[in-house]
Amino acid sequence: MAEPDSVGLEEIAGWVRAARSVVVLTGAGISTESGIPDFRGPQGVWTKDPKAEKLSNLHYYMTDPEVRVASWQARLVHPAWTAEPNAGHRALAELEGKGHLEVLVTQNIDGLHQKAGSSPDRVIEIHGTVREVVCMACGERAPMERALDRVRAGEADPPCRSCGGILKSATIAFGQQLDPATLRRAVAAAQTADLLLAVGTSLSVHPAAGLVEIAARTGARVVIVNASPTPYDALADAVLRDPIGTVLPELVTAA
Ligand SMILES: [Zn+2]
Repeated sequence: MAEPDSVGLEEIAGWVRAARSVVVLTGAGISTESGIPDFRGPQGVWTKDPKAEKLSNLHYYMTDPEVRVASWQARLVHPAWTAEPNAGHRALAELEGKGHLEVLVTQNIDGLHQKAGSSPDRVIEIHGTVREVVCMACGERAPMERALDRVRAGEADPPCRSCGGILKSATIAFGQQLDPATLRRAVAAAQTADLLLAVGTSLSVHPAAGLVEIAARTGARVVIVNASPTPYDALADAVLRDPIGTVLPELVTAA
C-alpha cells in the first residue's frame, strides 16, 4: 500500500466514484475559512480562555444566572449569524448533488452545511446547533432567532414560554451528554460507509475519532483532509494537508 500522504487527488476521486456510501465527517477546520473560530482545538477559544469555557459548561449554566445572562449576550454576537459558507461547504453540497454523499456528520454547530445547500436530512450535527434553543426542563425546541429577539427586547435570561424552564442553545455543552439518537445515526452511517472522508477535524475528541475507527474496522477506506497531523493518519488510506477550500472543490470536480 502507498504511504497515505503520497496518494494523489485523481486516485481518491476514483475511490469516491466507486464508493456506494461516502460518509463525510467535518470539524472546525472547514468553518475557520468562514470566520468561525475553533472553540475546542489546541488553539481554541475555550482552550485558551477558561472563563469562556465556563460559559459553555452545563453545570455553571444551570446553576448560575449570571452565566446564563453572559451566554445570551455571547449568542447575540455569535459569528454564525453573519458567516457565509465557503468553497469547502459548497463542494460537499455539490458532492451530494452528484449523488456521491450519503451522510454528512459534523462537529460544527454553525449550520453552514445546510446554508451551503446540503440536505438537512443528510446532515447529522453531533454537537447540536446554535440555530435552535431547547428547554432544559420540558425539551421543547424553538428557533434561536425568536429567543434572541426576546433578549434584544430586554429579557436578560428568557425562560421557556411553555413551562418557565431554563432555555439553552441546542448545542452540546461541556458536561453534557451527546444525544443518544443522534449518536446512533452517526455510528450507523460510519458502519455502512465504504469511504469515510474526514475534513478539518483533529480527530482528538470522541465520538468523531471513534467514527473513523468504526468505519476503518468495517472495511471503509479512510481519507483525511486536515492541515495538521491527526492520531489516525497512519490508519488512513490517504492524507491531504492542503487548504480545505482549495482541495475539496478539486476533489469534487474530479469525482
Ligand atoms: Zn419548557
